[in-house]
Amino acid sequence: MNKKLFVVSGSSGVGKGTVLKKFLEKNPDFMLSISCTTRKPRDGEVDGVNYFFISKDEFKHCIDNDKFLEWAEFAGNFYGTKKKFINRCLADGKNIILEIDTQGALKVKRQMPEAVLIFICPPSLEALENRLRGRHTEDEETIQKRLKEVEEELKRAENFDYKIINDNLENAVCELEKIIKEANA
Ligand code: 5GP
Repeated sequence: MNKKLFVVSGSSGVGKGTVLKKFLEKNPDFMLSISCTTRKPRDGEVDGVNYFFISKDEFKHCIDNDKFLEWAEFAGNFYGTKKKFINRCLADGKNIILEIDTQGALKVKRQMPEAVLIFICPPSLEALENRLRGRHTEDEETIQKRLKEVEEELKRAENFDYKIINDNLENAVCELEKIIKEANA
């Protein structure tokens, strides 16, 4: 049985990872897709679990051979979702969530109009900057690059199906559950 595809996007530091982690703990029948990236792994990230970490050459090879459902360049690195991975999960009847940037999300929607796009917004831009700095995973140059992306992300989010403001974790998770349950009904 084919299921719907859910796409969750949000600016760096908005806490979408935490919202999704909590959602997945409460809803074990859902899974996150695993993307390919040319970004270096952060401490604790595992190849094949958080991402498939590949070289720029491998990434280019996948683009040239039409292997990606979507891909995007984000803050100097490449990220992409393999068609094969998603099609196999959907055909197996799995509930799958893509956590990808807004450019990728809109590309997915063009190819799969039934996909449901959900954008997680920060309570304010100041809160977003504080969160991004507070997690100490990026250097200053990377933080600046990611902050520059925010404006574009918010513009693209206007074309999303739903928006969730992450000012409280529990509320954001409940809202996500509500949207997904309604769309899957
Ligand atoms: P990070 O480097 O923080 O893990 O991810 C940076 C951005 O890339 C995030 O907005 C994340 O959602 C996005 N991203 C992760 N995987 C993919 C993907 O496969 N495609 C696209 N377009 N964006 C992705």
